[in-house]
Amino acid sequence: MRGRASTPGRGRGKVRGPGPGIISERRRRLHGAKPRTRAGSNLARVLTADYAKAVRERADFDEVTALLREFRGIFKGFNRQPVAYMPIKAYAEIGQKLDFSLNAATYRNGPALRGFYAGRQTGLKRPLIYINTAHHPVVVGSSFIHELSHHLSATVLGASTRHAHFLFDADYPRQLTVSGELLADLMVSVAGYPRGLARQIFAADWGHLEIRDAADLQGPALAEVKRHLARAYAFRLAFDHENTEQYFEYLVGIIHYARLRQALLSEYDL
Ligand SMILES: [Zn+2]
Repeated sequence: MRGRASTPGRGRGKVRGPGPGIISERRRRLHGAKPRTRAGSNLARVLTADYAKAVRERADFDEVTALLREFRGIFKGFNRQPVAYMPIKAYAEIGQKLDFSLNAATYRNGPALRGFYAGRQTGLKRPLIYINTAHHPVVVGSSFIHELSHHLSATVLGASTRHAHFLFDADYPRQLTVSGELLADLMVSVAGYPRGLARQIFAADWGHLEIRDAADLQGPALAEVKRHLARAYAFRLAFDHENTEQYFEYLVGIIHYARLRQALLSEYDL
């Protein structure tokens, strides 16, 4: 989710939301975009996918709880408070403790790569996590959690690392269909929405999620999600006329992680 959300410090405390004209422009573009663009079709998919079923069928309860335990050992208060994003140096220190290398660099070409994990079975002496720092810090932080989850799955759960795992903005619907990716994204959702908070936010009935509400993060649960991201992370999604595709990919990510968190709560009460 590359770079157009408001940056902390720059817009903090100010209302940076678009005016009504822009909102209707956004809706118009979204409706127009839906059948034609990847982000439009991904949005429709994350709104309608059965997240509860995906969690039930592809996220093993014992593996989820084992990973939660590992994460609690690394981030004090994991699943009790939101994990704050940290300076890159802090991620590198975690790498030193857990014996992987961290490469954090800005990459702006091609599709919106967020990061990758390459474990020992790929032939590396030391496992490697790469995170793309072109993104907003909260996105960089969530990419790190995702890749760290692959590392822990390999070292603690014995998951195969024969292939490197790449993470792209555009892959959210696919992440639901691959167990390792689903586990990693579940850890991201827990980092962002600890259990107590998730219970409050996702107590509201989502009802049927309409694209026109999702486009502006409206409706009982999505409005709460929007408030939480602003409050906890100073993350405010700003519409970008120059790059509407990117805007919708951000949006798809927000809804994807929120729905995952809700599913983890409803299926496993974690
Ligand atoms: Zn992954």
